[in-house]
Amino acid sequence: MKQERGFATLAVHAGEVPDPNTGASSPNLVMSTTYVTDPDVSFSAEDFGENTPFIYTRWGNPTIAQLEQKLASLEGAEAAIAFASGMAASTGLLLQFLLPGDHLIIADVSYAGVAEFAKDYLPARGIEVSRVDLSDPQNLQQALRPNTRLVYAETPANPILKLTDIAAVAAITHQAGARLIVDSTFATPVATRPLALGADFVVHSLTKYIGGHGDAIGGAVLGRAADLAILRKEVSIHLGGIISPFNAWLILRGLATLPIRMRAHEENALALARWLEQHPQVQRVIYPGLASHPQADLARRQMQNFSGMISFQVKGDAAALARRFAERLEVIHYAVSLGHHRSLIFYLSTRDMLRTSFMLSEAQEATYRSFAGDGIFRFSVGLEDAADLISDLEQAFA
Ligand SMILES: *Cc1c(COP(=O)(O)O)cnc(C)c1O
Repeated sequence: MKQERGFATLAVHAGEVPDPNTGASSPNLVMSTTYVTDPDVSFSAEDFGENTPFIYTRWGNPTIAQLEQKLASLEGAEAAIAFASGMAASTGLLLQFLLPGDHLIIADVSYAGVAEFAKDYLPARGIEVSRVDLSDPQNLQQALRPNTRLVYAETPANPILKLTDIAAVAAITHQAGARLIVDSTFATPVATRPLALGADFVVHSLTKYIGGHGDAIGGAVLGRAADLAILRKEVSIHLGGIISPFNAWLILRGLATLPIRMRAHEENALALARWLEQHPQVQRVIYPGLASHPQADLARRQMQNFSGMISFQVKGDAAALARRFAERLEVIHYAVSLGHHRSLIFYLSTRDMLRTSFMLSEAQEATYRSFAGDGIFRFSVGLEDAADLISDLEQAFA
């Protein structure tokens, strides 16, 4: 599909071609692990290249390739690789491009799994890790070292929706000769295209908005073709954490409707954020689409869509309210994860997050608490009628 087509057209068509043998209009699900092969084709990752035919599904698969092409087209990336999960994508990327003695700068608040991996696993293997509040790019300037190889940002950050100015952080990172990774799971390419703002890699949990229906786990790394060729060989083929073709097929189908879903998520989230903001039991609402977001200017500059994630603090006993929500909510599911067509809500206590995942400095903890207080409800606003979501919350609050 020509790159100059509109975004919604690319979402529907990019990566897909009618099957040349049958004329089938929608993508085939190819579950085959192996392919009838020319005896002259080498079976070594060392010889693997762009023009290698399909040989074995850990190396490449027609359904997975269609998903990768659609993702690359929507992010404006030279190449994409799909992995078994968002965690497989992020950890594979970090393991590939960090060696003992290297320094990683990671955002002070990021997806808990990645934060925990950076806290324990990497230092145990000789990699220096600094946790930096990247919402102020000056902090990055001060944290850089001669051996800084990678900077890892997430915007909006899970779970507090703190933002990072990608263009500013990319410029500082590149001056130091390092490379920038952006986890863009909450934004999706509908809101923000980090590569166009200077990032070197984008990572996604495809499990969230991109798949969009809560029925398939997957992840992806996007970036330059030369970098991704290395990842394909070392991380996909040798470490082996590839996505199942069935999951790729489900996510490919979800991705086709991403633009229209994100518009609907945003519309519902804005309605719910405004309703929550005036609720007497609500202390504070964080949503990038509200003027009250502490970085509302950056949100308007960097996000073409404010996505469907809201965080809010309540007055009184939040843990008791969480139990009440779990018992009483009928439409909204009390559950982790996000970005599904179903609305999901979950309470995250600040004390638990600091103990298990983030381990912040005093200044960073103060910033975290300025967003989250003692704890926040993370609310992934789905595609139901906004009026039903409001009445569901209303009866559960009461
Ligand atoms: C869920 C999530 C991940 C991890 O993805 P999985 O598919 O669950 O492995 C990474 N980053 C963000 C921002 C997420 O929300």
